Amino acid sequence: MSKLFSVLILPLVLFLGAFVLNVSGMTITPGLPEAACYAAAGLAGVLCWRFKRSRGVFATGLILLGFWLVSFPLASGMQYDAVSLVGYAAYADLLPIFFCILVLMGDRGLLTPWGILFFSAVAFCGALFLTVVDGGWGLLTPQVAQDLQNLFATTLHHRLLPSWADMWTWLPQPAMVHTFLAVVFLLLRAFFLADPLEVGFLGALLCTAAGLHCVGNPSASGLFFFAAFVSLIVPLFQDSYRMAFLDELTEIPSRRAMTADFKKLGGCYALAMCDIDHFKKFNDTYGHDVGDDVLRMVATHLNRVSGGGSAYRYGGEEFAILFPNSNTTDAQPHLEQVRANIENSPFTLRANDRAGSGAKGRGKATPKPRETVSVTISIGVAERKDQRQQPEDVLKEADKALYKAKNSGRNQVAVGH
Ligand code: GH3
Ligand code: MG
Ligand code: MG
Repeated sequence: MSKLFSVLILPLVLFLGAFVLNVSGMTITPGLPEAACYAAAGLAGVLCWRFKRSRGVFATGLILLGFWLVSFPLASGMQYDAVSLVGYAAYADLLPIFFCILVLMGDRGLLTPWGILFFSAVAFCGALFLTVVDGGWGLLTPQVAQDLQNLFATTLHHRLLPSWADMWTWLPQPAMVHTFLAVVFLLLRAFFLADPLEVGFLGALLCTAAGLHCVGNPSASGLFFFAAFVSLIVPLFQDSYRMAFLDELTEIPSRRAMTADFKKLGGCYALAMCDIDHFKKFNDTYGHDVGDDVLRMVATHLNRVSGGGSAYRYGGEEFAILFPNSNTTDAQPHLEQVRANIENSPFTLRANDRAGSGAKGRGKATPKPRETVSVTISIGVAERKDQRQQPEDVLKEADKALYKAKNSGRNQVAVGH
């Protein structure tokens, strides 16, 4: 969870910077916040598009609309005119709703029916409010246009809370309530679904609301909007780190992470290769989905190995453990411990697993109430013996030791030469 919320650290720093600017009345070189916002918006849009995060592209576009609103028609602050009373209020009111729709919709693409539907909904609302603000483009009589503006302004500024709730901000009460509800919704989703982009949405919504609050102060609002775009960019970097260095199934470091860590090794280290015993039979009996659950369970145990070891999924049902600054004598008790932990953690099959449903009918096991099965692993471990040995050579020695462990009856740790 802390990793998830690390998405918000950079936006939070920017947010605090903008807050100080707003309170202190200091300014940034004119033009700089705008340039930073356009650069960050461009980066957020392109990265979200390349990472197939269509929600992020739409969110970038929505935040840009708000940025334009405070940078152009409302550049010198709020007035008692239609842009302020209707345009600003409508944007602040609808943004949290559109953010919630986006997270519920998921990444369904841009030029897909869902993407086009969302774009059309935003375009319709935009056209509607522009028409009201403009007074009906000359198609309505002045009286009807004025009545319409009054109706929208009254609705968008409907009083829901006591006056202390909004006496300090231009944000109308319905917009504040919607933002609050959307923040609660996004926080709940962050806790239960753990999607970094949605945490980014949370940061972006709060920063955009703060940017709207600072209307008329281009330095502070520019920095808040910049923080909003950064909130959408950071999770993409977290995503790309995950994709590069974490194994998708088990969520422990991948083989690529191991190769990267090899470069940081000193002269003394031990490497272990671990392989699940009779895993093929397990897969054939209970199905591939149960096999995947077993892989996750084994990976969780290996990831908790003591003695300073780091576990990686090497490939298939094989895992490697690296013990920097250790030899096989140091590593062996920790490997023995993790082997025993796995052996002593019976794997409980769910009712539908026992019929082998995951194997698309290949399963042959007959259901028994709360059936548990024992999973064991064999481990081979080797250490760096001389200076000419590369980590890959030590890994080969560990692999040979692993086969020794297999041939000696499995469920044991064997030491290589
Ligand atoms: P041994 O005790 O000698 O290691 O026998 P084994 O059956 O574990 O060894 P073998 O190498 O024959 O089988 C490995 C199996 O691992 C074959 C493959 O179906 C399964 N496997 C590899 N990757 C995955 C995966 O990501 N998910 C699942 N469910 N199975 C996998
Ligand atoms: Mg194997
Ligand atoms: Mg195996």
